[in-house]
Amino acid sequence: MTLRVFISLIFTAFILPVSLWADSARDGFGESSQIESKFFKVSYKPDVSLEGLVTQLNVSKSDEILANLSVDNSSTSKQLATMLDVLFNRASDVLDMHIYSFKGEIKVFATRQELTDFYNNLFHTALPCTGYAFYLADYNSIYVSAEYFRREVIGHEIGHAVMSNYFVVQPSVKIQEVLAGYVEYQLKKSK
Ligand SMILES: [Zn+2]
Repeated sequence: MTLRVFISLIFTAFILPVSLWADSARDGFGESSQIESKFFKVSYKPDVSLEGLVTQLNVSKSDEILANLSVDNSSTSKQLATMLDVLFNRASDVLDMHIYSFKGEIKVFATRQELTDFYNNLFHTALPCTGYAFYLADYNSIYVSAEYFRREVIGHEIGHAVMSNYFVVQPSVKIQEVLAGYVEYQLKKSK
């Protein structure tokens, strides 16, 4: 058996089923539309307006300069996608944690109530983190509502996503909140 055949057997036997399993792991977010950025797949509910998300996110010129990335204004979806990539670069720089192959998801409910209901359904407790959004490592997904789609809120959760993908051994929840809060603070400071 050649090495190449051996490697492809290993891939088929172990790696492929794992990736199929990951694909089929569903969080129950339900019907949605999608846009794709470099670092995120964004799914949003039918009653969410992309224009509204862009207006709320309000990524600034100084964000673009600090992130070394420009917002693409050629369409609303490209605007939103590149704004999120700018925030990803900013959060990575603030934490000094760089993951070049990162790809996560952002899932947007129309209202905070829908977000709360979704979380309660899964965990039967109040919303964690800031109370406006949360990150679930099992799905590598940030969950947020259109009502609170703000750069500090999203930046905080991107901080969680970056940490979760960066550390092999996860720091305590308290430390993760302190670091995500630091990203939020830096974004607020440079508004
Ligand atoms: Zn948090």
